[in-house]
Amino acid sequence: MRWVLLGAPGSGKGTQAERIVKDFKLPHIATGDIFREAIAKETDLGIKAKEYIDRGQLVPDDIVVGIVNEKLSSILEGFLLDGYPRTIVQAEELDKFLLKNKKPLTGVLLISVSQRTILDRLTNRFICEKCGINKDPSDTGDKCKKCGGNFVKRADDNVETVKKRITVYLNQTTPLIEYYKKKKVLYEVNGEGTPFEIYNEIKATLFRLKSEFTM
Ligand code: ADP
Ligand code: ZN
Repeated sequence: MRWVLLGAPGSGKGTQAERIVKDFKLPHIATGDIFREAIAKETDLGIKAKEYIDRGQLVPDDIVVGIVNEKLSSILEGFLLDGYPRTIVQAEELDKFLLKNKKPLTGVLLISVSQRTILDRLTNRFICEKCGINKDPSDTGDKCKKCGGNFVKRADDNVETVKKRITVYLNQTTPLIEYYKKKKVLYEVNGEGTPFEIYNEIKATLFRLKSEFTM
């Protein structure tokens, strides 16, 4: 099972990814998390990535591709990529890398949401300061249930940066929808429902493909 999770910022990608990797026991690569961790540790990568992320821009392809390929080499049997690829160049590099290893993608899950929903969700979003998981909107507590950390706003979740990220998504990432449609690996789910509803739709799709592959 080699999956890519595709969706706008605020589509619920991160929340759904956490559930998928737990239920399907898949290694999870989230490029946004990798960068946030590097920024917190103030590594060279972190310092470089921060310049772009704070402005709502994408980190340059050559940096991201190298990081992801290195991580992928040891988990080629199964993985969930979350937040990658985000440009046509990244998608082509991913295909090249997987083909070379004879491990093509099983599928690409697209979580579709309206622009209004994206803006509402992102500007009202909180994440755990320690472990990085998203706060469930229905959760009224002020501490993370998983690790006890404080909930904080993400630095790039202010209205200005969010608008920029939506534009970047529309310009640079939405061309991937056609790219994967042509390759007949795109599976679309409606991202407007509750996390539970969305997850049920995702699970159904993943199980269907899983059984096709193991039979
Ligand atoms: P979101 O999906 O909410 O925008 P992520 O956590 O996936 O958030 O990413 C945060 C930021 O990290 C992005 O706005 C971008 O600057 C950078 N980033 C993450 N993944 C990539 C990628 N594949 N290519 C380039 N930049 C990336
Ligand atoms: Zn936590």
